[in-house]
Amino acid sequence: MRWEGNEQSDNVEDRRDGGGGGGGFPIGGRSIGIGTVAVALIAGWIFGINPLTVLGLLSGGEPAPQVQQQGPAHKPPPDDREAAFVSTVLKNTEVVWSDIFRQNGGSYTPSRLVLFRGVTPTACGTGQSAMGPFYCPGDQKVYIDLGFFDTLKNQLGAPGVFAQAYVIAHEIGHHVQDELGITAKVDQMRGRVSPAQANALSVRVELQADCLAGVWAHHSQQSKQWLDPGDIEAAMNAAQKIGDDALQRSAGRAVVPDSFTHGTSAQRQRWFGAGFKSGNMQDCDTFAAKSL
Ligand SMILES: [Zn+2]
Repeated sequence: MRWEGNEQSDNVEDRRDGGGGGGGFPIGGRSIGIGTVAVALIAGWIFGINPLTVLGLLSGGEPAPQVQQQGPAHKPPPDDREAAFVSTVLKNTEVVWSDIFRQNGGSYTPSRLVLFRGVTPTACGTGQSAMGPFYCPGDQKVYIDLGFFDTLKNQLGAPGVFAQAYVIAHEIGHHVQDELGITAKVDQMRGRVSPAQANALSVRVELQADCLAGVWAHHSQQSKQWLDPGDIEAAMNAAQKIGDDALQRSAGRAVVPDSFTHGTSAQRQRWFGAGFKSGNMQDCDTFAAKSL
């Protein structure tokens, strides 16, 4: 992906020097060690819309409300290459989604993207890097610890800069769902169904975010022609590596479809591919799909 020299977003908030520290993480009045975090991660809440719910359950408490003070938001330093990449991809998602919303008679309000290290306060509770990138509907922000890109490459086996772009586009896909009112609707439904049904709903939310990432990739490539051979394959490979079945298998556990929250590798690839092929948001209705 030839992203250098393109316009960057102003909506990146750099909290990486904001402290946070190490050690245990306070959620629900309890400290969560690395074991619990690892379980939550393996449980498939990587890229989750709100992994804090799961962590809250695991720690036996409710996610903590946002109480911490925030300093003024500031931008990443201009010589920071990784931050420049994230800002460039974010900017392009803003352009693409603004166009699509406008064409459909609406308007798109961009999400902010927060770079952090370790832990950071969010409107969904304390965000932790071990949970992987996530979107918080409460403050409409995407949270990313850039260390996740190393995990993606070295531990999950998904290298490539476009694999990283897919991660950002997937999280922005959650923001698009929020803008469309889908997030609120799903949250309402979630409260009325069994845990297995709630997981099934979550899978449809996640596969839709994958499809929306594909829609972005389609329009992004059409206008910029900035993809190299192998870029789409890198995103497809990432989708494969973070499928629930692949994560469960690589954790040495039995594959339990009822526990899936994001969909299988094949499903994630299929929906990203569907969005990329047509570039049409209407092809991302995972809720109406008979088969995923
Ligand atoms: Zn997600």
